[in-house]
This record gives sequence, structure tokens and C-alpha cells, in this order.
Amino acid sequence: MTTTSNLQNYDIQLADPRVSPEARRERMQNLGFGKVFSEHMIQVSYTPGRGWGRVALKPYGPLVLDPASSVLHYGQAIFEGFKAYRQPDGRIRTFRPDANARRFRQSARRLAMPELPEEIFVEAADLLIRTDRDWVPSAAGESLYLRPLMIATDAALGVDASRENLCLILASPSGAYFPKGVKPVTVWVSDEYVRAAPGGTGAAKCAGNYAASLIAQAQAKGEGCDQVVWLDAVHRRYIEEMGGMNIMFVYKEKGETVLVTPELTGSLLPGITRLSLLELAQDLGFKAEERRISVEEWGAALLEGRMTEAFACGTAAVITPIGTVKSRNGQWIINNRETGPVAARLREALLGIQHGTAPDPHGWMHTVC
Ligand SMILES: *Cc1c(COP(=O)(O)O)cnc(C)c1O
Repeated sequence: MTTTSNLQNYDIQLADPRVSPEARRERMQNLGFGKVFSEHMIQVSYTPGRGWGRVALKPYGPLVLDPASSVLHYGQAIFEGFKAYRQPDGRIRTFRPDANARRFRQSARRLAMPELPEEIFVEAADLLIRTDRDWVPSAAGESLYLRPLMIATDAALGVDASRENLCLILASPSGAYFPKGVKPVTVWVSDEYVRAAPGGTGAAKCAGNYAASLIAQAQAKGEGCDQVVWLDAVHRRYIEEMGGMNIMFVYKEKGETVLVTPELTGSLLPGITRLSLLELAQDLGFKAEERRISVEEWGAALLEGRMTEAFACGTAAVITPIGTVKSRNGQWIINNRETGPVAARLREALLGIQHGTAPDPHGWMHTVC
């Protein structure tokens, strides 16, 4: 079956048989993160000369890939992540999908891959969400997580930017990240491994960044920590990110609350949650600053009582407070290991917009259906 939108034609092949409502309800019980997938997925392929093909909606299922596909050998792979939320009136809206579409293009450019036009990204995701709307959960904190990705599919071992590429979008109903309430984490400041270096791929959302980070994550676990904190590759002093999330600090300066986050140096991932919280902070009457902050400053500001909170932010968990910082040079406790008031207010403000229980003054929400 083919349907037409104002942009282009879609090829639509629905799952047969469809998952029954009972089976769907069963699969959507005790949702964690990224373990359950909806019935359909999007595929769009790129071929030189022809360019982007038609957007295809297909039943979710395995891919057939030539074992020589370059993604399997040289790791040309990028991804995105954003969420669709069921609103109080039953509609479904996504949060800033245009920003993810833009970042997907930027990641593609860095990995020498073709750039998917932003309207196709957003419209294809809308088509998937509309088709699988029953897979958008409705309980507090739950959402449908969208995972666009692109892989290089040239079947050739010569090292070269792949000419053929495949874009996919998957949808995964996801539960509240902290089902038992937000709990501050313990972090390990990695002085052995780095995530990204100047001139590298740190600002691109690419698979390789994650592959290279897993050993440090394992080391953090070994030190009794939940997550790793990354330092800059050159000085090994300036804080960059926490795991796969951006990081933020709360200072009290002359009676003012100041939200500080590392500036985008090219080796940090420009998070959309980061950007949104910087704007929300100002709405809430806080100051917001983007600048470098060193580990020494982190420790000193905590000891002097100038820093009151620290937390990480990203689409999956929204805000994760940091309760304990461990490094080879010692250990600090933040805000008595409790979620601080600034993190709590920002979290509530952002979740309110996303779940449609608060107004959306910045026009961040995109109505799907
Ligand atoms: C995706 C990601 C983030 C967070 O980005 P959001 O757009 O806020 O989800 C931060 N750091 C890394 C390394 C990431 O991959």
C-alpha cells in the first residue's frame, strides 16, 4: 500500500498478524529502558546517484546485511534518541524532534555519511509513532523512546566512506527511569581513559564513542560507582560529561542560583536536554553559564559550600543527581546525597512540558496525532 504526504510517498507494509491488544499489554508490563520494541520500524536507504529512497514502514524484525558491510568492520554508525509522550488529552507529542533531526545531520557529516533531510526524519518518525500509537505508554514518567540510526552498508573491505547507507527508526516503549523515585548516583572521575579528544568525534552521536567508553564504565563499576565522569583529553582536568549524559553544577553566588555546565568545546555532545535546561533555568530565575570547570574547582567549590548540587542530564533519564564523587585523589559528598531543590525544580519543569501538564512557552512540543 502506498500513501502520500505533502513531502513524499511512503511504502507501508503492516505487520501480519498484528500483535493482539492482550499480547501488547503483556509486553508493556514492567517496562524498563530499551527492551521492548513496537510492531513496526522505518527504513530509508541512500544510494549514490539515486539519493534517498522512499520511506518504508515495515514490521519490526531482523535485517539482512552482507557480512562485508562496512559498518561491521569500520564502525560508520550514528544514532539519535528522543521521546513521544501521551498527553492528558490523549494526543501524542514529541519533544524537539527538529533538534534531533539537525544533530543527526551533523553527526552524519562528521562520519562522512549522507545527511537525511530534517523533514524526512521528523515525518518518518511521525508515521511510525502514528502507526504504533497504541505502544505509547500513558503512566507517569513513561514514554515511547524513538531510536533513529544510520549504518554504512557498502559490501567492500577497502577503507573508504561508504557510498550506500541505511537509516532506520525503531520505537521502544519505556518505563520511568527511576521507578522507585530519583536516587542520586555515585560517579568515578576517570583519569585513565578519555571519551573524546579535540578533532575527534566527541560532538557526534556515533556508535564508536560508546564502544570506546565501556571499559571506563566497567572500571567505574569496579570502584563501586554507577557512572564514569569524563575529563578533557589534553589537560585531564576539565570536566566534560557523565557517561552518556551532559553534566551540570549549581552554585550559590551572592544570593543567586547559578547553573553552570561545561561549554561545548567540540569534544562534548551538544545535548538537547542540556540546551533546554539552560533555557528553563533562566525562566525559573536562575543564572545560566557555559564555561570550563576543572576537577579541582569542583572539589573546592563543594568544600567551600559554594556549590550546592551537581547532576547529569539527557533524554533517557532527564536529570540524574550526583550524590558522591570518587577519584584517585579522594571523595566528596554532594548535598548530603539527596536530590537538590534546583535539580528537582528543573526536572519537574521539563517533565511538565513533555507530559503536557504544564504550558509549553518555547514551542518545543511537536504534535504527532
Ligand atoms: C545523547 C547524549 C547526550 C544527551 O543528549 P540529549 O539530546 O539530551 O539526549 C549526552 N552525552 C552523550 C555522550 C550522548 O550520547
